[in-house]
Amino acid sequence: MVTVSRYFNNVWKSFWTTMVGMRITGRYLLQKPITVQYPDERMPIPNRYRGIHYLEQEKCIDCLACARACPIDCIEMDAVRHGKELEWISFTLDYQKCMFCELCVYPCPKDCIHMGTEYAFVTYDRSEFKHDLLSYKGMSRDAKIRMVDADKKKAEKEAAKAAKPAHEEAAESAPEEGAEDAGAE
Ligand code: SF4
Ligand code: SF4
Repeated sequence: MVTVSRYFNNVWKSFWTTMVGMRITGRYLLQKPITVQYPDERMPIPNRYRGIHYLEQEKCIDCLACARACPIDCIEMDAVRHGKELEWISFTLDYQKCMFCELCVYPCPKDCIHMGTEYAFVTYDRSEFKHDLLSYKGMSRDAKIRMVDADKKKAEKEAAKAAKPAHEEAAESAPEEGAEDAGAE
């Protein structure tokens, strides 16, 4: 008898708990969905979100201020200087260490390193967490043009400098010749 009553009790509980669940489902059934079909759709990101960094490479002057400000040394950069122009080799950020604190952003004198809105960084290989922020390696086209112009100007300056003593000698010797002529008269 006890077993029969427990059986019906269980049936009733199953029915009741299903109804409770379905009542919540029914409440949201006709409402606009609040979920998005990630990764095809994404929720809007707040403006001040601290995601994966991005670098405005053209503005960067390789001053290392961001790397020095990082409390866990996860920024490394390498570039060769050609006068004022930079030939970029690497600018890496290790996302195995980065804690997205934004302390590297504030000291930048050129305001060229930023926290972006990208957050999806999934990989099977740990080495890929060392992310290169460069958008190009080597020198930009504009930098090459500026470097060629600067070299040209420098060469012209040096040529002018080399030619100057001859002019000066001529200028210095001219009054002496004039004085000799005057003495002869
Ligand atoms: S966000 Fe913080 S931890 Fe990450 S690179 Fe910048 S300073 Fe370093
Ligand atoms: S602080 Fe700014 S300008 Fe200096 S190396 Fe970092 S990103 Fe480049």
